[in-house]
Amino acid sequence: MGRTSKDKRDVYYRLAKENGWRARSAFKLLQLDEEFHLFQGVTRAVDLCAAPGSWSQVLSQKIGGQGSGHVVAVDLQAMAPLPGVLQIQGDITQLSTAKEIIQHFEGCPADLVVCDGAPDVTGLHDVDEYMQAQLLLAALNIATHVLKPGGCFVAKIFRGRDVTLIYSQLRVFFSNVLCAKPRSSRNSSIEAFAVCQGYDPPEGFLPDLTKPLLDHSYDFNQLDGPTRIIVPFVTCGDLSSYDSDRSYPLDLEDGSEYKYTPPTQPPISPPYQEACTLKKKGRLAKEIRPQDCPISTVDTLSQ
Ligand code: SAM
Repeated sequence: MGRTSKDKRDVYYRLAKENGWRARSAFKLLQLDEEFHLFQGVTRAVDLCAAPGSWSQVLSQKIGGQGSGHVVAVDLQAMAPLPGVLQIQGDITQLSTAKEIIQHFEGCPADLVVCDGAPDVTGLHDVDEYMQAQLLLAALNIATHVLKPGGCFVAKIFRGRDVTLIYSQLRVFFSNVLCAKPRSSRNSSIEAFAVCQGYDPPEGFLPDLTKPLLDHSYDFNQLDGPTRIIVPFVTCGDLSSYDSDRSYPLDLEDGSEYKYTPPTQPPISPPYQEACTLKKKGRLAKEIRPQDCPISTVDTLSQ
């Protein structure tokens, strides 16, 4: 792919680089905020599954002002530093990571917890949806420990077959739950965001890491008939803003000529780095198919 073709195909990718965001996802959070005013009165926030860090950039700019806010960002991957953002490298489904996050908010809870977490997609829809749901529940579990009453939780969901179950779990903890689809999130993707406002756990609920929400026993039958929860679906971002599924010409509307912008923050240690290095040196192992081998090699291989 040429250097400019992705810019052409994905307007939000190009705009992200031009505006100094580390990822196009920044627009999703900004568009969610346009609709729900997520950052109003927020001074302390947690960004779960944060790498490469565009949501943390938005958070630190919107709530941090000049260092007055407090953002904790967590991801499996290492992330290049950001001013005013405390980083934790870890797995949010692990107890040790959850504990490390929670300790930063002891006695001073957070106003907002966001999670843009996505598992490595396998292409098997049921598996991907299940993994995504587990990530969301791990995030919710952390949120129940750090959020102040009335606080807000925003998390990526996959709108799959069993999403109603997740909505009903979220409704246990929040007075208002919506499913939002920002304009910058491709229509072709089942991704959406659960926007949960008004943290209000059931009376007597005590967050307990020894019994995380992941270790639940569901009563699936509960969701039948009239008890099935219908969560409102809201699109956000101005309708006149760019359509994330369209290609746009590279020359700008004001007539100025397109100039390539390199990514704001190239990945610092991507999981594919080793493969790239090996490929450059021509040492990336190739699959050997018997039909590609000279007869003598096939003989050796089959021995
Ligand atoms: N919001 C980010 C931004 O704006 O830059 C983009 C997040 S990216 C779509 C999803 C992230 O989820 C990846 O960086 C991945 O490492 C992280 N992730 C997936 N599973 C995780 C887990 N169990 N714990 C922590 N991070 C996880």
